Amino acid sequence: MKLLPIRRLPDPVLKRPTRQMTRLDRSIHALIDALIATMHHYPRCVGLAAPQAGSSLRVAVMDSSRHPKTIRSQGLIVLINPRIVANEGALIQREGCLSIPDFTGNVRRATEVVVAALDQTGAHRQWRLEGFEAVIAQHEIDHLDGILFLDRVINPATDVFRRTSYG
Ligand SMILES: [Zn+2]
Repeated sequence: MKLLPIRRLPDPVLKRPTRQMTRLDRSIHALIDALIATMHHYPRCVGLAAPQAGSSLRVAVMDSSRHPKTIRSQGLIVLINPRIVANEGALIQREGCLSIPDFTGNVRRATEVVVAALDQTGAHRQWRLEGFEAVIAQHEIDHLDGILFLDRVINPATDVFRRTSYG
């Protein structure tokens, strides 16, 4: 499987809202497979959205299962045309992003979300996600709306950090 090159800030594709997918054809499945393979290639990568690979389709993948922060995980989730239909609570967590490799930042997110989307078979699904997985889903759906975590840091002067370790 060929890995997708990751687009980085300030690539304009990262700021462009994506468009809803109307059908799932072979090229979409190939994109989804490549997103999954690319996410899994990076040891601490827990989610990847199509704009990060230069595509403006509304699809993202996530998988928190290999990350040390994970307590409970629903494993690999493919989100096609996702939207958040309910959210609850608030937490602040340090986030990073392959598209912004040199920085991390503190972002406020809901602690629990319900995400409605199509899965890779085209079936309508809802996922109730908590904690770390809820944060990942919010981060990835933001990507699909052209929003990066840097747009959401609580205070740009005190809540953005230069990354000291990669991995
Ligand atoms: Zn990201």
